[in-house]
Amino acid sequence: MLFRTLILQASALPFVKRFVRESRLFRPIVRRFIAGETLDDAMSAATSLVDEGFRVSLDLLGENVATLEEAHAATAAYQQVLDRIAGSPQREMINISIKLTALGLDQGDEVAEANYRDLLQTASKSGTFVRADMEASEYTARTVEIVERVHRSFANTGTVLQSYLYRTDSDLERLIAAGIRVRIVKGAYLEPPEVAFPEKTDVDAKYLEQAKKLLLRGHYPAIASQDELLINRILDFVEARGIEKDRFEFQMLYGIRRDLQHRLLAAGYRVRIYIPYGEAWYPYFSRRLAERPANLLFITRSLLHK
Ligand SMILES: Cc1cc2nc3c(=O)[nH]c(=O)nc-3n(C[C@H](O)[C@H](O)[C@H](O)COP(=O)(O)OP(=O)(O)OC[C@H]3O[C@@H](n4cnc5c(N)ncnc54)[C@H](O)[C@@H]3O)c2cc1C
Repeated sequence: MLFRTLILQASALPFVKRFVRESRLFRPIVRRFIAGETLDDAMSAATSLVDEGFRVSLDLLGENVATLEEAHAATAAYQQVLDRIAGSPQREMINISIKLTALGLDQGDEVAEANYRDLLQTASKSGTFVRADMEASEYTARTVEIVERVHRSFANTGTVLQSYLYRTDSDLERLIAAGIRVRIVKGAYLEPPEVAFPEKTDVDAKYLEQAKKLLLRGHYPAIASQDELLINRILDFVEARGIEKDRFEFQMLYGIRRDLQHRLLAAGYRVRIYIPYGEAWYPYFSRRLAERPANLLFITRSLLHK
């Protein structure tokens, strides 16, 4: 947890941001986590993964836009993604993940909600599912409320809950009762102990408990993690309870634990790979670095060997 805090704090410093964004030295590791900068790059990664048997979710990177114009531009860019998906022979295997702060949540709930509804309108024509990612805790309540409201008109949407937040048990019950699809994750943002468990062991225990609840009572839940020990415990639970393999899916991030992604697929489970792409890759990249000291060692090694 200390490592994560340090990396997230350091990555917010302007000179670090500039160095990482501009230095070519970081390109190989950036490319490991991010499919590329264009929609063509993302679709090409998606096609290969779907050919292998995976499902995918496209995430056009970008968050916390500063103006209404940027929010509309992000919405328009997502409309193009939906058009490409609609025209793809693999469309049933592809969906999208969006961030409400990219659609204008900082400019007002009504701005983000209107843009989100526009996307859902388009997506419903091709039967595409749209998931609202969960962002920092200052947005949790508003995201849950917006998703609940919008879900009354559009069944093709759902959201994400983070096990590190104290409030998640109650949000989980609320979303299960509303019939809303949930992706359960541990949580990727820097949160204070007033709102989130500071200890990883508590987060892991909550994750397992909440994943089991979703598997028993949720609506096509997504179990999103790279944690092999937790995934093994979930597999034991699924087998012991006789939960059918088409009642849920595993989700994992592009470029992380590909061995585990293939192992689950080979065992007959549904596995969706979350494919981030776009020019605004820096915040996503920092969160991935902060999750694992080994990623930083990898970078240090490549810097030393250049
Ligand atoms: C499909 C998907 C969607 C997500 N959506 C959201 C979201 O909407 N909101 C949100 O807050 N978070 C989201 N996350 C991120 C999540 O909250 C965690 O930060 C992230 O998944 C790391 O947690 P973990 O469950 O893999 O377990 P950890 O305990 O962090 O990791 C377990 C093991 O996984 C491997 N691993 C994990 N991360 C990395 C990495 N970056 N590089 C290399 N190996 C790694 C390592 O082997 C590590 O030991 C998402 C994650 C996934 C998989």
